[in-house]
Amino acid sequence: MCAKGLLQLKNIRLRNTLSVLNVLRTRDMLSRVELARELNCPGTAITRITRELIEKGILKSAGFIESNGGRPREQIKLVADWKKAIGIELAPHRITGILSDLKGHILVREEIFLSEQLGIEEFIHSMELVTRRLLDACEEEKLLGVGIATFGPFSSESRVLGNVAAYPALDYFDIRKFFEGKFALTVQVADATYARALHEIWFNHAPDRGSFLLFDVGAGIGCATVFDGQIVFGKYSNVGELGHTVYKIDGEACPCGKQGCLETLCSIRVIEQKARALKKSPKLKFAEVVKSYASGQDEFKDIVEDGARWLGLAIANQISFLIPDKVILTGEILQLGERFFKKVNQSIDEYVFPAFRKETSISKSEAWRESAALGAASLLVRKVFEDQSYSISGEHKA
Ligand SMILES: [Zn+2]
Repeated sequence: MCAKGLLQLKNIRLRNTLSVLNVLRTRDMLSRVELARELNCPGTAITRITRELIEKGILKSAGFIESNGGRPREQIKLVADWKKAIGIELAPHRITGILSDLKGHILVREEIFLSEQLGIEEFIHSMELVTRRLLDACEEEKLLGVGIATFGPFSSESRVLGNVAAYPALDYFDIRKFFEGKFALTVQVADATYARALHEIWFNHAPDRGSFLLFDVGAGIGCATVFDGQIVFGKYSNVGELGHTVYKIDGEACPCGKQGCLETLCSIRVIEQKARALKKSPKLKFAEVVKSYASGQDEFKDIVEDGARWLGLAIANQISFLIPDKVILTGEILQLGERFFKKVNQSIDEYVFPAFRKETSISKSEAWRESAALGAASLLVRKVFEDQSYSISGEHKA
């Protein structure tokens, strides 16, 4: 806001206004007295800021509650649907889209499942269909834009996909250009694992201090590293391609061109392939493995638990290397249920540097079905809380 020198009075006022909005973003409702206490500022400043924001329609009164002996206190809350954002997750087998309000509530959900070996034209058609349905459900003046969470690494600063191991037809597809050209919307593009980490930070209110690793396991395997609320990423905004780190020298060929990558040992694609070979059934789906294994049957036990062992080893190595406070496992692999999660934990216990095991808690996120789409939407939503032109200086001009 003010890189050099002291903040000007006007900027202090703007910053205070955003602070009020950010407190109410993470709470259901608060009184002006509670807001003043929380922000350690005079009640008069809070009264002025909340009055302005109520006039703009971003905040509203939520009634009065009795206070101890004093006058009833008016409760203030954020108008969650003041603005909305579309989030879309592109995955090799499905496209999931949501319309989100400012608090990450899903207002509309659209999903299309894709058949295998789908060409680029059909993929684009499905993307367009999901987007149009969501656009139809949102008032134009409320829409902040669209966030896209995608699989596959970015090959350049403009985030064009490259070396998409799980879907080579998408190589060099420019997602941003497509959406901007087709819909004339504000577009943000992010890696799906990055988007899931954003979802934890922005809508699940992960703590500002401390660290966590998020492992996103589906058709591919990504790992996001988060320190003090900041996602660590590399060139072209890529987060960790853990799935393409080599775990078995001279192992199975990986679609990326190497051999023995983690993805060839534990991913939905590999579990499905092994199950097909076992049952001599080339059309068998991962869903059938899930149904059998999650209900306690042993038909695919060896295949699934071999994958759990490799995944546990990879997580253990990352814990030993970075010593995070927390590990979050997410992604489509969690369909395999608690039985699978326990096996992954056993493997982590077996391979992690013992002194660090007790330092790290391990949990799973069941919100994987929408978390990438919500995280992508948060890239638009957060502008209301970080960019003064949205909430203070009148309507934002895109
Ligand atoms: Zn690979």
